[in-house]
Amino acid sequence: MNTAQQFSPGRACSLEQVPHWDLSTDVLVVGFGAAGACAAIEAVVAGASVTVLEVATSGGGSAALSGGEVYVGGNGGTDVQREHGFADTTEALRQYLLMAGGPAADAERISVYAENAQSHFNWLREQGVPFKGSYLPGKWIEPPTDDTLLWSGNEKSWPYNIVAEPAPRGHTVQFEGWGGGKVLMQVLCERAQTLGATIQYNSRALALIRDRESRVVGVVARIDGDIRYIEARQGVILCAGGFICNSQMVKRFVPAALACELQVSAGNDDGSGIRMGISVGAATVNMQEFFATLPFFPPASLVKGIFINAHGQRFINEDSYHGRVAHHVMRQPEERAWLLVDDEIFGRPIIQQDMKISAVGETWQEVEQELGLPTGSLVRTVDEFNRLAAEQQDPYLHKTAEWLRPLTVPPFAAISYCRGDYQGHAFTLGGLSTRPTGEVLDGDAKPIAGLYAAGRTACGLPRWGEGYSSGLSLGDSTYFGRLAGRTVAQQTQN
Ligand SMILES: Cc1cc2nc3c(=O)[nH]c(=O)nc-3n(C[C@H](O)[C@H](O)[C@H](O)COP(=O)(O)OP(=O)(O)OC[C@H]3O[C@@H](n4cnc5c(N)ncnc54)[C@H](O)[C@@H]3O)c2cc1C
Repeated sequence: MNTAQQFSPGRACSLEQVPHWDLSTDVLVVGFGAAGACAAIEAVVAGASVTVLEVATSGGGSAALSGGEVYVGGNGGTDVQREHGFADTTEALRQYLLMAGGPAADAERISVYAENAQSHFNWLREQGVPFKGSYLPGKWIEPPTDDTLLWSGNEKSWPYNIVAEPAPRGHTVQFEGWGGGKVLMQVLCERAQTLGATIQYNSRALALIRDRESRVVGVVARIDGDIRYIEARQGVILCAGGFICNSQMVKRFVPAALACELQVSAGNDDGSGIRMGISVGAATVNMQEFFATLPFFPPASLVKGIFINAHGQRFINEDSYHGRVAHHVMRQPEERAWLLVDDEIFGRPIIQQDMKISAVGETWQEVEQELGLPTGSLVRTVDEFNRLAAEQQDPYLHKTAEWLRPLTVPPFAAISYCRGDYQGHAFTLGGLSTRPTGEVLDGDAKPIAGLYAAGRTACGLPRWGEGYSSGLSLGDSTYFGRLAGRTVAQQTQN
């Protein structure tokens, strides 16, 4: 009798090893999170029979723990954007996403998304996802209220603000406080089931099955403890999340993420989807990239502080998205950095109330001495910053005027963002190489027959830690999950 230990996501199973099919379906989706639920909905609507394997005992994945913030806009704006005076153009969204995608941005995928993000928002609402439609100005990580629209990335900060006309694009599911992802996933999972997708909980996909022509034809799974062979007549869609919970993969591919102690995950981002893809020859993209944050605000007043490194130098415009700030903080010399604040802007970050204060003084000189920095280094930096901030200028790092204020009200303090003194949060952005349609590509950029992927199993829109904006992962997972579902289902009609 075959046991689960015989199978590995890293080793494909040949069709000859399959004794019989226990189940047969047109479309087999692995993972019932953001991408998987949307893939299932579209595939079933297109007329395919759909089975979803979900290792957990309920659906939702990491998306169910998320803030439920979805990054959408373009086409003149969603009705929510328009109602609040933001006529967001497709070109502005496209330019922003190109920059956010970093050196390996996928221009084709970005164009597809920019053109369709606004209608995708409408689609989410048609499924029953509630969005209140109100606008919350200011700088937030997630809305503390049930408001919908907020600035969720780098739109208003340099250099993004000179490349793309800024618009708020974070559309958050209506839910009082943090955690709107629960509502998002409840709606999408119920919808998939109501439409007729078969969901197998407590079911782990163990390995892909491929035939002699190297076509992926199914999956070996452990369902309620038993080994099962499932035929996927039209294709398998891997929607199993990323790999932040797989310490070996993190060490191997994205060691910089080890600086972040907290995994942004519901716990099953073990890389099994990516490994299954690799087992049949899939190429990977940007495996070294990760979302990171050290949420140094709210309160937003802290954004008026300045980050310095062990040389007493500034290095980032602090009004950038918190994930961009995190990446810059983490790569400072000796992984040491501090946020300098004065009494007027001081507050405790709501996510890390017990932050470490490394130095306090009545003068900046005292703070410099307590931190043990080279004489004059911090004082010179603060003096220069204060002189220019009083004129509403930051010619070095281009912090916008809204956040510029001299730090002159004692006592002064240095909040530590040195490695070990804060808890960073991370999830992975690298994954399988795919077309926007979800087709998984091999090393020659040729589709692997029968195999598709979406969400964090694929390397999608969010693929550069420094460029990440809140809502990009859910926007990408839900939209490209849909495209993958539709693409595979259309195979049945050929
Ligand atoms: C606290 C928190 C807040 C967040 N806030 C936001 C936000 O506001 N906006 C945003 O864009 N992103 C946010 N994210 C990130 C976002 O939720 C994820 O990146 C997103 O859910 C990825 O979607 P996915 O479909 O790839 O993975 P998931 O939603 O995690 O779904 C993957 C599913 O696959 C299942 N699975 C894994 N392996 C197997 C296997 N071998 N067999 C069967 N099933 C398997 C998992 O159990 C899971 O249900 C947040 C995440 C967290 C944890």
